[in-house]
Amino acid sequence: MPRTIQAIRGMNDILPDEIHLWEFFEQTVLEWMKAFGYRNIRMPIVEQTDLFVRSIGAVTDIVEKEMYSFLDNLNDDSLTLRPEGTASCVRAVLEHNLLYTGPQRLYYSGPMFRHERPQKGRYRQFHQVGVEALGYVGPDIDAELIIMCAELWKKLGISDVCLEIGTLGSTESRALHRERLIGYLERHIGRLDDDACRRLHSNPLRILDSKNSEMREIIEGAPRLLDDLDEDSLAHFEQLQGILRDQGVDFEINPKLVRGLDYYNRTVFEWTTGSLGAQGTICAGGRYDGLVEQIGGKAAPACGFAMGVERVLALMVKCGEEVSRSVTDVYVIHQGKAADAFAWKTVRHLRNAGITAILHCGDGSFKVQMKKADASGARFAIIIGDDEAQVDEISIKPLREAGDQVRVGLTEAVDMLKVRSII
Ligand code: ATP
Ligand code: MG
Repeated sequence: MPRTIQAIRGMNDILPDEIHLWEFFEQTVLEWMKAFGYRNIRMPIVEQTDLFVRSIGAVTDIVEKEMYSFLDNLNDDSLTLRPEGTASCVRAVLEHNLLYTGPQRLYYSGPMFRHERPQKGRYRQFHQVGVEALGYVGPDIDAELIIMCAELWKKLGISDVCLEIGTLGSTESRALHRERLIGYLERHIGRLDDDACRRLHSNPLRILDSKNSEMREIIEGAPRLLDDLDEDSLAHFEQLQGILRDQGVDFEINPKLVRGLDYYNRTVFEWTTGSLGAQGTICAGGRYDGLVEQIGGKAAPACGFAMGVERVLALMVKCGEEVSRSVTDVYVIHQGKAADAFAWKTVRHLRNAGITAILHCGDGSFKVQMKKADASGARFAIIIGDDEAQVDEISIKPLREAGDQVRVGLTEAVDMLKVRSII
């Protein structure tokens, strides 16, 4: 026997028994995005490697060690499975000149790929919903994006979640801060780990994002970017806080908040929870005014965020949110030549009327078919023998509640099932 083939480590199947959660989430996201006037955009899963190197930054975890890159063996192009969506979204917006008609409120969802060590809440294929507002200077749109998240958590029944906000200032204030930070880190060089030493001059701000607990003390004592902020960025940050306070959104200021990607400036934010162990960030984002120009467009301000769907779903479950599984209304069992033909007609008729119906396929006595009907979880069995078929009638038997079997015509069946299946 050939050896069985398994899925790639860290890339999960999502099985029918858990799909109700995903469908509830997807439906909620669809309505939520419509309510805020954001439109869906769908980009390819594979892009030129260079797009991510240029946008995410060469000296980042993602580009240095997490990307699934490969050569297209037909033309030697270096391609990459997208590790995140912002770069692709901005690329698509530029390629199709969408900003020409004005600012854009957009969202996307789908799988992302990062070669990380798989663990709970951290996978190699995971899903994100990403939201991007392009062409707005903020801080009103920054606030809208954050408020929007707060609304979604409510709709999903998520309560145990905290908002942290910070600011990275302007390019100039970051440059000033960078020098101070390098000076500080150089004075403590003996206590930096290998990654930090390597990044000391190429990307010192990222050292503050290190997950190495031995460096915690050094990071705690580092100079704060907040103290080096330029006036405009400070005003932007204060206005953002003002809107959030007015709108009753609680937050904490985290001066050490550095996003994992290079392209952010000014506003950065993260939604975190204590309920999911080490992988506690469910959603993260911020402003990236330089990115559009960086990948070849005419400069345009922008702000966005992405949430990790697996983590959001895990948190929904932790918060006790119950989502009912969808149940098929009827399972149609049939036997006999006239009955078979009438069964096809019956399911078509019922489905057209909005009733969900499974048609029994394969052989089997009425008894065997009835067992299948029961196992299917359907609420009613519909029984069609040649007797019934001859007079265009069906028998309906409730499977999940008390009640007698009744024999009715199709029109009456629809009326009856509609009333009873909606309850
Ligand atoms: P982390 O610090 O957890 O590695 P990140 O900063 O790399 O996160 P982002 O690039 O900001 O993450 O992605 C946004 C969100 O996507 C994260 O907050 C998280 O919820 C989710 N996410 C990121 N990487 C993974 C992964 N490997 N598996 C599952 N979810 C992920
Ligand atoms: Mg990461």
